[in-house]
Formats: sequence, C-alpha cells, structure tokens
Amino acid sequence: MTEKFIKNEQLNFIKKQIALIKDTAQKHVAPAVLRAAIDMANAKILGLFPNASSTQLEMLNLSRLKTDDEFDQYIQHLSDFLLPFPNITGQQLKKMFPKNKKLKLPDLSLMDHSKLTYLSWNDLRSNKKFIVYKLEGQLVGIECKFEPAGKKSYCSFCKCAGEVAYFSTVTKAKNSKNPDYYKAIGNLICADSSECNKKITNTDYLTAFLKESLGI
Ligand SMILES: [Zn+2]
Repeated sequence: MTEKFIKNEQLNFIKKQIALIKDTAQKHVAPAVLRAAIDMANAKILGLFPNASSTQLEMLNLSRLKTDDEFDQYIQHLSDFLLPFPNITGQQLKKMFPKNKKLKLPDLSLMDHSKLTYLSWNDLRSNKKFIVYKLEGQLVGIECKFEPAGKKSYCSFCKCAGEVAYFSTVTKAKNSKNPDYYKAIGNLICADSSECNKKITNTDYLTAFLKESLGI
C-alpha cells in the first residue's frame, strides 16, 4: 500500500499539465507534436517528485495514456494519494494568534483538508485575513490587513486571474539605528482562499512571503 505523497499544489500542477495535453490534442496537431507535449508534461510531473519510489513513479507516469477518459482516471487515482492539511483545532488556532483576543475562527468542519495548500479565512468585520501554513515542518500563522480590491487581477500566490483583495502585514524586520522602523509588505491575492487553493501550483511566493513576514 503506497502512502499518501502528493501535495495539493502538486496535484493542481499535474491537472494543469493534463489540461495542456488535452488542449493540444483538440487542435489535431501532428502525432509527433502531441507526443512531444505528453513527454514534456511527463518530465515536468516526474521532476516534482525527485524522491519518489518506483511504485509512485509508475503511478505518476502518464506517457502511455491516450484518451481523455484515461487522463481523467489518472487524476482520479492520484487524488487518492493527496496529503491532507494537518488536523488543527480551534483551540490550536487561538494559540497561534495570542494577541488577537477576539479571534474569529473559521468553520473547520466545512473545509476539505485534502484540498488545502494553506488554511485561510477572513474576518470581514475587522478586515483581517488569517493564513496558516506548514512551513519547514511547523505550522505557522500570520494575520494580515485585508481590503477587497473590487476588481479582477493576478494573485501572487496562485498566479491566476480572479477576484483579488489587497493584503498587507507588518514584518518582524528590525533596524538597529531606528527603533521606529517597520516594514510592511503587501500584495494582491485571491479574495476567496478556497478558489486559490484549487489553482495554486507551487508555494514559492507563499513561503517567501511567510518567511519575510515572520522574520525567519
Ligand atoms: Zn490565488
């Protein structure tokens, strides 16, 4: 029995590659062109899992697939091996934000933990957004200011266009010469984090943002 080994963002990446293959196939390109697209997608997918076992590599290998049905079954099968977001209770969340005495907790029972790269919820009364992520093996959380941008734009986390909000946070960066120094960082991200979690294909920006905010 192979253990779960695929992260949400990795499955999103794989789905994106499959969509590209289907798109190429629909254009009725020469067989060699389609073959090249499949081989390229396969190499990119296998490249995401440098430590995969031979069983896992076999499961991920899509070079023999041909029909849309086969590609759909392939995704369906891989979905069974999604690593869920760590189980976390409301009490644990409260401990992560000790300064926030009126922390509004999300309804954890409504969240599908197998489809989360990061856990996030909004408190619209105080215009706050909370983000929790497993960074280098440890769950970390940050609180950001959050203002709906009222427009469509690109999200920094998932790099997709959609309804975004402006979010900003004061980092823990210090300046020895100026005790009043502070540095705020901000950006546009998806207003709806469950949508963002469906689209995010890598965590480069998310982890860099969290490390800078937390001063790690
Ligand atoms: Zn997003």
